[in-house]
Amino acid sequence: MKTPLQEIWGKWPGDESIDEILEALRQTSKVEGTAMQLTRNFSDDEFRCPCCGKEEMSPAFVERLQIARDIADIPFRINSGWRCENRNSDVGGVVDSSHMAGHAVDIRASDSHTRFVIDGALRMVGFRRIGVRKTFIHVDDDVSKPQGVMWLY
Ligand SMILES: [Zn+2]
Repeated sequence: MKTPLQEIWGKWPGDESIDEILEALRQTSKVEGTAMQLTRNFSDDEFRCPCCGKEEMSPAFVERLQIARDIADIPFRINSGWRCENRNSDVGGVVDSSHMAGHAVDIRASDSHTRFVIDGALRMVGFRRIGVRKTFIHVDDDVSKPQGVMWLY
């Protein structure tokens, strides 16, 4: 009898590394659409890299984002979450993008009220790096970069 992992790879349990197992489980949930809930409002699918399906967000970052979401009390639609290097260069991200570290998201915000509410909530929970474009708000908690900044794209 084959286990689900064997079905996926044709391998016996024990032949694979932990990384391979985790990757297979991620792929399984991607294929079957069984998103894993990370916090009350966010599932892992929302943060996946669209090119490779991987998702390696910082749990602490997502938890803080959830608190901001609770304060804002409006949906946060994630335009871009975790990115692999290929995806990051495809979308013109900076070479040291915090998206690749799992410490950044772009949240859809294309009208002035949504932008105002999301920005306010992000600041209330202590985010100190915000980028604004007409259609989204970028936020990250990358402590290796300047703090207390808001930039435009
Ligand atoms: Zn990718």
